[in-house]
Amino acid sequence: MAASPSLEGHYMTQRALIVGLGIGGMSAAIALKRQGWMPVIIERAPERRKGGYFIGLRDEGKNAAAALGVLDVMEKRTPEHIQFWDVRKDGTRRRIADLTQETNAPIALLRGDIEEALWHGIEGQVEVRFSTVPSAIVNGDTQAQVTLRTEDDEETTETYDLVIGADGVRSTVRKLVFGPDEAFFHSIGTMLCAFPLARSAEGFKAGDGLMIADVKRTLTVFPLAGRPSTALFSYRIRNPKRASRKDPLSTLLQIFSDLDVDGIISKALEDLTMTDDFLFDSVQMVKMPRWSKGRVLLLGDSAWCLTLYSGMGASAGMLGGQVLGEALAACPHDVDGALQMFEARMRPFVRKHQRFIVLRSQLFVPSNRFSLWGRRVLWQVLLLSRKYLSRMSA
Ligand SMILES: Cc1cc2nc3c(=O)[nH]c(=O)nc-3n(C[C@H](O)[C@H](O)[C@H](O)COP(=O)(O)OP(=O)(O)OC[C@H]3O[C@@H](n4cnc5c(N)ncnc54)[C@H](O)[C@@H]3O)c2cc1C
Repeated sequence: MAASPSLEGHYMTQRALIVGLGIGGMSAAIALKRQGWMPVIIERAPERRKGGYFIGLRDEGKNAAAALGVLDVMEKRTPEHIQFWDVRKDGTRRRIADLTQETNAPIALLRGDIEEALWHGIEGQVEVRFSTVPSAIVNGDTQAQVTLRTEDDEETTETYDLVIGADGVRSTVRKLVFGPDEAFFHSIGTMLCAFPLARSAEGFKAGDGLMIADVKRTLTVFPLAGRPSTALFSYRIRNPKRASRKDPLSTLLQIFSDLDVDGIISKALEDLTMTDDFLFDSVQMVKMPRWSKGRVLLLGDSAWCLTLYSGMGASAGMLGGQVLGEALAACPHDVDGALQMFEARMRPFVRKHQRFIVLRSQLFVPSNRFSLWGRRVLWQVLLLSRKYLSRMSA
């Protein structure tokens, strides 16, 4: 058991509070538990969430999942015969490179599949309290006192050796300890709406993905094996704050109505009315000069949100958990040293992926005609080069 010295000179088991039962929070819990810590997770939602949107898990994420011992139990939903189509306004379609295969074959799955696998790693071993949020944090040099509020508005104050804010891009822990969102948000100038479709698009096979793209707006349908595809609407905006307060359905109907090729848009939006499992939000990168202060650490989207355009957020969340575990193992009685090591190990990875997010957003939502055209050419060239390479290796 990891221990800190008590007043009597005995060592006591170290306790960590993790805020957020997402990919970052559960990865940290597995790693802390392995190092002999006693993690407690609090989650705002009343129960564990399932489903979610398409995720392509790259090598970095696969390796981190393997290191956390959850890769083997993770559902993999990459379709066997995958084809991606660029559907034009006039109804014609062209094959393009598989958007999920930009780099070495990522695993296609749902966010919920990763969370389910991580849950296997903590179930019955880590205390999880639902419908609970932090309302105040008094941060000290060796411990932090956290006031926890339940849905009945009952408050209790508890003391922890470490508090981990893994509560997503709009983190409460970050607001309580580091400062307001505006100090760390870097808007990409886009909105997203992601949700599972109830049926395949007409005229497309199972395993087909598609993209309907125009200047400043796109619908991408990501195929998954064994379950319906997920839809991702993305569009450019001027005022992210105002945009995310609007109603998703009427907003998307208004923005995409003249792009409704073969009824694909309107059918997808019908499916949106039938699900509660959707995400509608502005896209923000989070940039912070430091991820820890006293005994509070941020990890995952709360610390560095890489956005969907990096294709690395889920991987970074698991990697964050793995690296935290390794740092604590290297500095068993020196939490400050471990936090410094965590920072030093994660910083280059995050910097590398944040650097290209604005540029990569052009692949998803072109901001002008030139970028729309360039993106089309790029996907075609990728497809041709892949065909050529596979013929050469055959
Ligand atoms: C459309 C889309 C596509 C994506 N595609 C990819 C991809 O292809 N590849 C990839 O690697 N990544 C992808 N990502 C990114 C990835 O999903 C995220 O980076 C990752 O899920 C972040 O995990 P997290 O645990 O840090 O935060 P979150 O998933 O946001 O989890 C935070 C948790 O904290 C809880 N919470 C929030 N506030 C509080 C509070 N005050 N108190 C208690 N609990 C709280 C929330 O309910 C939630 O359970 C995509 C993201 C989106 C939106």
